[in-house]
Amino acid sequence: MKKVIIVGAGLSGATMARLFADDGYEVTIIDKRDTYGGNAYDYKDRNGIIVQPYGPHIFHTNEKVVFDFLSRFTEWDKYEHRVLANIKGKLVPVPFNLTSLEMLFAKDKAERIKEILIKEIGLDKKVPILKLKEHENKEIRDFAEFVYQNIFYFYTKKQWGFKPEELGEAVMNRVPVYVSYEDRYFTDEYQYMPQNGFTEMVSNILRHPKIQLKLGRDAGKVLSLKDGEIYLKGQLFEGELIYTGCVDELFNYCHGVLPYRSLKFKFKTKKCSSYQKAAVVNFTTSHRFTRISEFSKFTCPPQKKTVIVKEYSKKFKKDKNIPYYPIPTESNAIFYQKYVEEAKKYKHLHLLGRLANYKYINMDIAVKNAMELYEKIKDNLED
Ligand SMILES: Cc1cc2nc3c(=O)[nH]c(=O)nc-3n(C[C@H](O)[C@H](O)[C@H](O)COP(=O)(O)OP(=O)(O)OC[C@H]3O[C@@H](n4cnc5c(N)ncnc54)[C@H](O)[C@@H]3O)c2cc1C
Repeated sequence: MKKVIIVGAGLSGATMARLFADDGYEVTIIDKRDTYGGNAYDYKDRNGIIVQPYGPHIFHTNEKVVFDFLSRFTEWDKYEHRVLANIKGKLVPVPFNLTSLEMLFAKDKAERIKEILIKEIGLDKKVPILKLKEHENKEIRDFAEFVYQNIFYFYTKKQWGFKPEELGEAVMNRVPVYVSYEDRYFTDEYQYMPQNGFTEMVSNILRHPKIQLKLGRDAGKVLSLKDGEIYLKGQLFEGELIYTGCVDELFNYCHGVLPYRSLKFKFKTKKCSSYQKAAVVNFTTSHRFTRISEFSKFTCPPQKKTVIVKEYSKKFKKDKNIPYYPIPTESNAIFYQKYVEEAKKYKHLHLLGRLANYKYINMDIAVKNAMELYEKIKDNLED
């Protein structure tokens, strides 16, 4: 059977490795970090709190097939994520809902807006802010402008370094306005956290006699691509290569460096059992950091101490910091396509995951995309 090399032991690479291994293929998976789990990597600190050094990761999905697959590798704790926005010192639920409305507007005005929203949009509906901003009813437009300025505008500029209108609509639509009292950040059917963290779950995915895991190895040092062929340590490699790292790096930046947003995290252990009112508080009108996350609120029962992280969004600088978020502008999508064209020249090279596909994806979609790509590759191998 053909050999398989997978670059990157994040959720995309680990899922792919397991699917190949379960079907009897020999898989080598390498990661340049000394850890597996990619950005979902976590560890237990000395107070027993699971800390996520690459930022807060919450699992949620509507994909039963993904939930069933991951459930083979972890027990789950039920967890429903709730986020507050700090608007000029007042903490209100986000996504912006009817409670937020009542907290920020005078009673009569709030009642009036609520009535109009229910009449024009409908109770229990979710509506993208950009759609609300263009509504034919002026009172709704005024309300939308308030929400846009206080929830979206400053936060988006801090997070992306771009004004909201310069980014694809998908970014703004990710957090709709709720015409309801729903206060959960996600409304997906399956909302759980892996009982002992993501690292343990990924470790279980990778625990298979056919999977060889090599950490601390940079693919760039052992793999090379030339004239449609893949080389491993200078020898022709005739198996399948699944690549989940940065696609521009794979092609030696031949078309330039793709733009990303990077992050800087400031962690602090606090001598109290609870630091803030919600697991995550977004600072949408003030401060240089975007949000504060409190890890013990994700899973752990209250401890004597708690760990918080302040998150600062930064420009990505190649070789200086980590590429976290591909920047979803139209021009970047065109830029990325140049690398897709390069990749097409290699029949046995498959791009997968957040970095290689140059697209923000949640963890469930990382798993789902791996499942779908695996089926495609398998069909080709069997032909
Ligand atoms: C701050 C932040 C918060 C997030 N929060 C959530 C959340 O709450 N819920 C959710 O569902 N999703 C969340 N995500 C998304 C989640 O991180 C991704 O879905 C997931 O990381 C995708 O997995 P991946 O394997 O594609 O990429 P990654 O996790 O980035 O893994 C890629 C791996 O490839 C390795 N690699 C790269 N280049 C090379 C190379 N040359 N050689 C060897 N190895 C290499 C890297 O070291 C890395 O381990 C968040 C993302 C960020 C940035």
